[in-house]
Amino acid sequence: MAYTNSSLVSYTKLSPNHSGQRTHSIDRITPHCVVGQLTAESICGCFTSPSVEASCNYGIGKDGKIALCVEEKNRSWCSSSRENDQRAVTIECASDLKDPYAMTTAVYSSLVKLCTDICKRNGKKKLLWLGDKNTTLNYSPKSDEMVLTVHRWFANKSCPGDWLYSRLGDLASKVTAALGGSSSGSGTSVLYRVRKSWSDAKSQKGAFNNLDNAKRCADSNAGYSVYDESGKVVYTGKQTASGGAGTPFLVKVSATDLNIRKGPGTNYAKTGKYTGKGVFTITEVKSGTGSTAGWGKLKSGAGWISLDYAKRV
Ligand SMILES: [Zn+2]
Repeated sequence: MAYTNSSLVSYTKLSPNHSGQRTHSIDRITPHCVVGQLTAESICGCFTSPSVEASCNYGIGKDGKIALCVEEKNRSWCSSSRENDQRAVTIECASDLKDPYAMTTAVYSSLVKLCTDICKRNGKKKLLWLGDKNTTLNYSPKSDEMVLTVHRWFANKSCPGDWLYSRLGDLASKVTAALGGSSSGSGTSVLYRVRKSWSDAKSQKGAFNNLDNAKRCADSNAGYSVYDESGKVVYTGKQTASGGAGTPFLVKVSATDLNIRKGPGTNYAKTGKYTGKGVFTITEVKSGTGSTAGWGKLKSGAGWISLDYAKRV
């Protein structure tokens, strides 16, 4: 499929910071928070100098105006992941300077329109939010599916901010509805929610049309279950809270510099030691700050590691 750019763009200032044409077709969209209530023009202005070594495909200004910084056919330098940026259209959105990096209604509604347009031009009928790093990165999208990814999975950042992160399920269902895909025509496309408990809506990892995807998400997050629309548990994840039936299990670590901490969270001190590459036994899983997939206790007694950087084997 030939690459095109969005006709929703009303300002173009191309950045020199990109890798030339993508080596992977587009099947992901990665929305970011630019950290500042900037105009579309100033978002482009952030990326005009080669020395910043960063860019994005599109920028959305605080008033909803859409700008083009790197043509869709080219790989932008945006998400701290070469693999992701080869296949993702990256979008920097004007946001507040501070947590939860809230965005204006105008930005959000432009984001819905831009994502819809990107899906349409790239032959996609659905935008999916799978809600979890491991589930998403291990998922092979069907030819008509586009998948949302987030910067925080690839770097120690809060991007796209909790404001947008908590709305990604809504973004996916709005875009899918606009594309006329699934969602049984009623406008209520979201069915299965993955949470710690029904009343703890903030713990929600994702909302899924597909029960299998919801189960997979619950399995990879300690203490999570799948709930139907009325709040009834339809499935309990394999790793229940603290310890859990699923433990012990083996994980593979591919990073050389994965920190071992004294407790389950980035709020616990580093031990100063790293796991190094290898396969390790996890005896307990707990949720905690700074890790989407939870924290795993090393059998050796050395401490805890973030399961975001470990693959279950
Ligand atoms: Zn980002």
